[in-house]
Amino acid sequence: MTSYDQSNIFARIIRGEISAHKVYEDGDVLVMMDIFSQSRGHVLVIPKAASRNLLDAAPATLANVLTTVQRVARAAEAAFSADGIRVQQFNEAPAGQTVFHLHFHVIPIYANVELGRHAGLKADDAELAADAKAIAAQLD
Ligand code: AMP
Repeated sequence: MTSYDQSNIFARIIRGEISAHKVYEDGDVLVMMDIFSQSRGHVLVIPKAASRNLLDAAPATLANVLTTVQRVARAAEAAFSADGIRVQQFNEAPAGQTVFHLHFHVIPIYANVELGRHAGLKADDAELAADAKAIAAQLD
């Protein structure tokens, strides 16, 4: 497997070099809006510890990040009255991974509404900012 590249975009966001629509942050995880949103409320949950994907992550990193995935899924469901939540995670380019720092997609699903394309259209910044606040307000 290829090694971890410190210059990937999520590492730069974690270091504060690039801005993001943050929903939540603590010492271990960062939660932010996906800017190429596939549905309203599409969020990424990212451990701060450096790992390329699920395959090289430490068990402690995974335990922590999955707890946050659950919290954020519940919050997103409540914020937007979603009909379901899809959690996605890709490992290596042939599997669909485009950013090589471990992350989990939390994607609200709305009945009879088709999902947008993965990494397709850039969402509106004002809407992303408002949605980040709406999800943050529902976090327990
Ligand atoms: P993947 O590696 O395939 O799981 O996808 C990476 C995800 O990161 C895609 O859904 C992109 O829309 C998203 N993404 C890429 N750059 C940014 C960014 N600067 N801020 C937020 N999301 C991003």
